[in-house]
Amino acid sequence: MKIPLNPSGTLTVVLQTTLPLISPTSTFTMSTRVLIKFLLLMAKDLPSGKVLFHGPCNGSLFPIRLKKSLPQSSTQPSTPSVLFTSASSTTWHKRLGHPSPQALRRLVSHHQLNVLCSSSPPPLCSDCQLGRRSKLPFVNSSCTTTAPLQIIHSDVWGPTSILSVSGFKYYVLFIDDWSRFTWLFPLHCKSEVFHSFQKFKLLVENQFDTKIKSLRCDNGGEYTSAVFQSFLSNNGIAQQFSCPHTPEQNGMAERKHRHLIELTRTLFAQSSLPFKYWVEIVQTSVYLINRLPSSSLHFISPFEQLFNTAPDYNFLRAYGCLCFPWLKPYAAHKLDFRSRKCVFLGYSLYQKGYRCLDPTNGRVYVSRHVIFDENTFPFKEKLSAPQPANPPPIPSYPILLPLPPFLSEPTPNIIQPTTPTNPTLSLSPPPSPSPIQTPPTTQLTPPPHPPPPTRSRHLCT
Ligand SMILES: [Zn+2]
Repeated sequence: MKIPLNPSGTLTVVLQTTLPLISPTSTFTMSTRVLIKFLLLMAKDLPSGKVLFHGPCNGSLFPIRLKKSLPQSSTQPSTPSVLFTSASSTTWHKRLGHPSPQALRRLVSHHQLNVLCSSSPPPLCSDCQLGRRSKLPFVNSSCTTTAPLQIIHSDVWGPTSILSVSGFKYYVLFIDDWSRFTWLFPLHCKSEVFHSFQKFKLLVENQFDTKIKSLRCDNGGEYTSAVFQSFLSNNGIAQQFSCPHTPEQNGMAERKHRHLIELTRTLFAQSSLPFKYWVEIVQTSVYLINRLPSSSLHFISPFEQLFNTAPDYNFLRAYGCLCFPWLKPYAAHKLDFRSRKCVFLGYSLYQKGYRCLDPTNGRVYVSRHVIFDENTFPFKEKLSAPQPANPPPIPSYPILLPLPPFLSEPTPNIIQPTTPTNPTLSLSPPPSPSPIQTPPTTQLTPPPHPPPPTRSRHLCT
């Protein structure tokens, strides 16, 4: 791509990871303070003469590897959105649902994702290794559709061995042949496929102002019932069945299933969420796949193909990470915390917001105002935390004041909690009679004199 310089020889460039190739000997200024020379890319801060970055041409682009941020005065003012959306390529890999390097490069170059450059190669993604299968061979597409809803592919997956939190055991996919955009409906049983198709038909025909022309599916009983066939016939929808025991003829739905299950498995590996949240994860997988570049669409996304606009990638966050939703509206009184430690559970289907799971009570909050820690995955850390063979007994008395130095080491054979001498100062119920098991070492070492009452009072008040 080439961009001509304007007559004044200046060009303002928004800071990003690559610059367009202009001319091997061109010179222009960025924000009137930064000088950039080509052939070997070099950018200088004009007032100070300091070299900000330099590097060779790579293909048709000059990759910029920032060691330090540009001086504030030489760049556009930082906006909160930039602050919150810039991330390493590893974080973007997690946000986007573990796409291939090819797909990620495409997004970086065409959608200006704010990726922090690093000179070291990205580390091997263990979640991908756990979740991905070997790639399916690409099948020559015989797509002949020219508009949405001309052919809808459908298939059912399930049953699962573990019910979802809402009691679902299956899901059904509806895939638009032209855009590859996918809709997913969780099901309690296969007989709900018919009702799901009715809802899907109403939704898409209203949204896109056109009619479904044909439905392609396998010979599953959920599609061959008399009521389903009658409905299709009455609505002028042609039904195309694959031959018995020939799932290859329902290839698009089969491939979408496999891609979906592969990504779902990877998100499970990334988040370590309990399996009962499989519906939330598979919905998130569909959400991401609809936004990832597809090789069968010349590397644009199904979303862009269908809606003719690029999706908002800066909205994405790493699945299963720690998050803090703004919970002031839920506060019962003014001293309640404004947030809680939650786990990012996915994107809301009905609002532009994030679903946040409070793991302590299973409650799900939907909020637009969420702070994320994309390097912390609470369920994963919970699983990987070393479990002591014999968990120490939990003291049932409150330690409200720091211990004196000579009692700060854990010496339970010396510290004997006693009933508070002044109960009005205690903030918790009185201690149980023997909250700490006296270890056997007390049999070997004669205990010293009983602690003076003042120390006991010190512990409990
Ligand atoms: Zn990965």
